[in-house]
Amino acid sequence: MLINALTVDLEDWYHICGTEDNTIPSKWVEYESRVTRNTDKVLSLLMQHDAKATFFVLGCIAEKEPDLIRTIHRQGHEIAIHGYYHQRLFELSRDDFEEDVKKSIAVVEAITGEKVFGYRAPEWSIRNNTLWALGVLRKLGIKYDSSMVPLTRMGGRGFERHPHKIKTNHGDIWEFPLTTMRCLWENLPFTGGLPLRIAPYWYTVSKLKWMNKMGRPGLVYVHPWEFDDEHPEIELPLSRRFMHYFRVSATRPKLEGLLKHIKFGPMKEVLGGSL
Ligand SMILES: [Zn+2]
Repeated sequence: MLINALTVDLEDWYHICGTEDNTIPSKWVEYESRVTRNTDKVLSLLMQHDAKATFFVLGCIAEKEPDLIRTIHRQGHEIAIHGYYHQRLFELSRDDFEEDVKKSIAVVEAITGEKVFGYRAPEWSIRNNTLWALGVLRKLGIKYDSSMVPLTRMGGRGFERHPHKIKTNHGDIWEFPLTTMRCLWENLPFTGGLPLRIAPYWYTVSKLKWMNKMGRPGLVYVHPWEFDDEHPEIELPLSRRFMHYFRVSATRPKLEGLLKHIKFGPMKEVLGGSL
């Protein structure tokens, strides 16, 4: 049976891109930290189902909560990185991005004592104008990226929809893009975040099974704050509010169902010996 990638973007409830106020790290001290208790809920669910995942960890969280990272690692999950301060790539210069990734790798490797192989950009922000980031990642020793979205409004409808290798000046890097289904003229996401919360469960599970039958692994992603329907409400533009709060309580039962019906593993296992 084919293994699908199970991934967790390890960030707190206030790490929301595209809202000026909430992207300023100095403001975060005003917010209650709920990441440990929410991640514990994810970990106990994974333990119940004997499932292993990849946790894409924010560097600033690893710095603040090293014990949380140690616990995740001790339980056999893969630790990868999600940037240091959750900044989208098109908001960073190339040098700032390199610094951000370097700092994130250093803090995580110092905690786990293991090499970091994977990266996911905040808000899937490797797009046509930030493709240079792949070379920077490879240069820093990253072997796979999972940040590209084959959707018109994000990466581009022409982006490949399945795991593939991309050439950079520093060697090849694997790309595991967001899982989508072809639907008329667009690709449709259905395996994580708001799309998972909205899509009927039968749709998600049957499409993943169909993909697996075709020999294609899928990628599921969740956030710890999606396991917390009581996280504080902050002022957000309507579209962000919808993305962040709508049907948050649907995540847990959906992931629970998927863990029963679909075979999962961490990214490095899905990409296997090719890393
Ligand atoms: Zn994120």
